[in-house]
Amino acid sequence: MTDTRAVAKDPLVIKSLEFIGPMATAEGWRPTNELPEIAFAGRSNVGKSSLLNRLVRRKAFARVSNTPGRTREINFFKVNGTFVLADLPGYGYAQISKTRKAEWLPLIEGYLRLSPALRGVVQLLDVRHPPSKDDLQMLDFLADIGAPTIVALTKIDKLRPREVADRVHEIAVQLHLEEDQMIPFSAVTNAGRDELAAALVSLVDQPSWRAAPMDASADAFDAPQSPDDVEASS
Ligand code: GDP
Repeated sequence: MTDTRAVAKDPLVIKSLEFIGPMATAEGWRPTNELPEIAFAGRSNVGKSSLLNRLVRRKAFARVSNTPGRTREINFFKVNGTFVLADLPGYGYAQISKTRKAEWLPLIEGYLRLSPALRGVVQLLDVRHPPSKDDLQMLDFLADIGAPTIVALTKIDKLRPREVADRVHEIAVQLHLEEDQMIPFSAVTNAGRDELAAALVSLVDQPSWRAAPMDASADAFDAPQSPDDVEASS
């Protein structure tokens, strides 16, 4: 019998993908602000490269971020000529040295705080583990700056479906999030790829949460009008 259900459409068809460069320091090179940006954050080994590869349907796309020298930088990729993925450096385990933390914290925080084109952040957490101190610090920071945040729970293939559902609930309670803000994901089975892609596309399409009512055009609008202007507009 033919399956008559509509075949789900890919919410993010990848037509082009381009590495556009690294940002190494908070003051260093970064892309121009013409295209919306979505950042991906998580501790090392959480499965960020695997998730990015699945997201863009390329086997080794995120490898560039894991090559020596690149792991401490923010790597930017232009997708379909329409938006930019910012792959943030994975932050370390508990034993991370203070020096190393002193390097990535200003870079990550500086980028997130100061990027006008940023539309939101995908924060990755391993579904099996409680969020680390660094994860909680990052989520607090994102809440502080008001950045729209999606939480992707990685490696769900390592648990039974019932356990995944329980963990989603526990993590939601712990982080004070709605369960539908979290996307269970597996790079092994590809579960969650399309949900993540759809969430990302809708973030890209939203105006920046950093709405700037006091920007130049607003000033111009509020500026006292000359009698000529009034006449022209009446
Ligand atoms: P990154 O350091 O965050 O970029 O993590 P990687 O993507 O390099 O993954 C770290 C390790 O976890 C690798 O051994 C991956 O094969 C494994 N891994 C990543 N995602 C998954 C997943 O969804 N399921 C399983 N079972 N393993 C995964």
